[in-house]
Amino acid sequence: MVRARVAPKPIDVRRAILTYHSLDDSGSVISVSPALFARQMEVLAGSGVPVARLTELRSSPAPAVALTFDDGFQNFAEVAAPVLARYRFPATVFLVSGYCGAANDWPSQWPGVPRLPLMTWSTIQGLSRAGVEFGAHTATHPDLGRLDEAAMREEVLSSKRRIEDATGREALAFAYPYGSMPEPARRLVAEQFRAGCSTRLGYVTAGSRPETLERLDVYYLARLSLFRHLFASPARWYLALRGFIREWK
Ligand SMILES: [Zn+2]
Repeated sequence: MVRARVAPKPIDVRRAILTYHSLDDSGSVISVSPALFARQMEVLAGSGVPVARLTELRSSPAPAVALTFDDGFQNFAEVAAPVLARYRFPATVFLVSGYCGAANDWPSQWPGVPRLPLMTWSTIQGLSRAGVEFGAHTATHPDLGRLDEAAMREEVLSSKRRIEDATGREALAFAYPYGSMPEPARRLVAEQFRAGCSTRLGYVTAGSRPETLERLDVYYLARLSLFRHLFASPARWYLALRGFIREWK
């Protein structure tokens, strides 16, 4: 049967990767409060929508959600891990390998982002044994578009190696710092990882590329009512989110 090429079916848009950064009460652009995070996970558990491993999201039947946490904050271990364990939700944490055990004060850090401690390798090893997946997010969190190709490759590959050495597991996923995805970096990520996460706001659809997957930053889902729409009927979810995003443009 030949099918006409049409817009993706609404069911497609119910496959989503959520992006978290820090779980703290500072109210910063990268922060979700621990109380709101706990409520969000409760809503997710009650929705019946499966939480898939990031690398299995595209092959899992829609609807499905994957959870990602960028930068490797210590509050992932303290706040998120116990909640995720309660619901047996898989998650992927993207580590900045040159800063583990230190703080998020890399040279290119945005002003207004609070200085926060990052997980130590020993904490990371414990969580890895408990089933948390760790992905690479470069060694020093640079904008990859500003580096020459050799420096870009070193940032990506050294962080993958360091994580694999520490955890004894393959780092299957990569997240691009600042969502900067120059073509040579996309090619390298496609070669070296099963999944690459962008910061482009959107759903994972049949047309998504595995090395540049869209994500939904929970910054846009801060209202719990909107978060709930993720698990309502596909059309409602799609329209609610589209409407909300339009408000922000
Ligand atoms: Zn980051």
